[in-house]
Amino acid sequence: MIEKNISEILKGYRDADMVKRVIHEIHQRVTQPWAIMEICGGQTHAIMQYGLDQLLPDEIELIHGPGCPVCVTALELIDQALWIADQNDVIFTSFGDMLRVPGSKGDLFSARASGRQVRVVYSPLDAVRIAQENPVKQVVFFAIGFETTAPANVMAVLQAEKLGLDNFSILPANVLVPPAMHAILGSPNNRVQGFLAAGHVCAVMGYWEYPTIAQKYNTPIVVTGFEPLDLVNGILRTIKLLEESRIEVENAYPRAVTFDGNQAAQSLIKKVFQPVDRKWRGIGSIPNSGYGLTKAYMHYDASNRFNSGDIKTEESKICIAGEVLRGLKKPSECPAFGTLCTPQSPLGAPMVSSEGACAAYYRYGRKSS
Ligand code: SF4
Repeated sequence: MIEKNISEILKGYRDADMVKRVIHEIHQRVTQPWAIMEICGGQTHAIMQYGLDQLLPDEIELIHGPGCPVCVTALELIDQALWIADQNDVIFTSFGDMLRVPGSKGDLFSARASGRQVRVVYSPLDAVRIAQENPVKQVVFFAIGFETTAPANVMAVLQAEKLGLDNFSILPANVLVPPAMHAILGSPNNRVQGFLAAGHVCAVMGYWEYPTIAQKYNTPIVVTGFEPLDLVNGILRTIKLLEESRIEVENAYPRAVTFDGNQAAQSLIKKVFQPVDRKWRGIGSIPNSGYGLTKAYMHYDASNRFNSGDIKTEESKICIAGEVLRGLKKPSECPAFGTLCTPQSPLGAPMVSSEGACAAYYRYGRKSS
C-alpha cells in the first residue's frame, strides 16, 4: 500500500527512488509518536505539494511553523504601510504577496485600486531605482522577510546612501528565526519535540546559534532544504536523533549551509541593522526578533520619516492564524477554511501568502487534518 502511494505521489520526481528508500527507513526507525516542526513556510508548501506528509508513518506529526514572513508581519506594520501609501507624493513599493494581506481596514491592493501609487517590485534595488527616477517623490520599500532577505534590504540602503538619495526609505519589518524558536519551545503549550531548520536562513546566518537552543529545550534540530529528498532526509535524521535520545544539531543541507554561514552578508547586516523587539502577527512581541536600522542609518527608516501617529488595529474575529502560526491548530481546523476564507477572498495572511500554511492546505487539497 505504502509502495503504491509513494509511486503515485512521487510520479515524475527525479529522485523518487531515493525518496522511497528514505521513507522506508523512516517507517522502520519509528517506534513511538513524534511531533516535528518545519519552521519554514517554503518547506510546508513542498511537503504538501509532494504529499510527503501522507507517506510518513502515523506516529509522525508535522507541525507547521511561523516561517512565512508575509503571515507574521504585524498588523500595526501593515496599517502603517497603508497609512504611508495613502500620503501624497509617496510611491510605496513592496513584494507582490504583501498587497493582498488584510490590514485593519483594507489592503495595499485596494489602496492601489483607489489611485495610490503602490508598486510591486522584485528586489529592494528596484525600489532604489524608482527613487532615482522620481526625485520629487518619497519612495518607501516594505522591507519584510526573514534573515534571507536582510542582505538585499541592507544593499538597498547602502545603494541609496552611495547615490545620495534622500527620497528613499524602508519600512523595517525583517524577523529572525532563532528568537522565534525560543518563543515556540519555551511556550507552556509547546508540543514540538524536534525541529527542521530552514536551509536558506542558515545559508546566510549559519547554525552556530542552534546548539544552545537544542540543549536549552532538549530538542534536536536538523538543518535541511526544500527538495522532497532534502525534507525526507531531514525528517529521517530528526527521527534517528529522537529515537536515540540524542540532543544534537545536524546539517542535512551541506551543499548550501555551513556552521558559520555567509560572513560577508552577516557583517553587512550588522553595519545597517540591529536586533530589536518585534511583534509577530498572531503571536505577539518576541524580544530581539526583528531588525531595525542602526543609529547611523536611522534616517532611512520610513517610520521616522512619516509620522503616522497612533494606529488602532483591528484583527479579524474569525481568523485563527495565531494558533496556526504557533502550530497549535491545523488550517483545516479553522471554521472559515475553504468557505469564508479562500485564496480569492482571504481573511488572514496565511491564506494569501505563497508560503502560508492555509494557502498550502487549500492548494493541495488538505481538507481535514
Ligand atoms: S483559513 Fe483563513 S481565516 Fe482560517 S486561519 Fe487561515 S487565514 Fe485565518
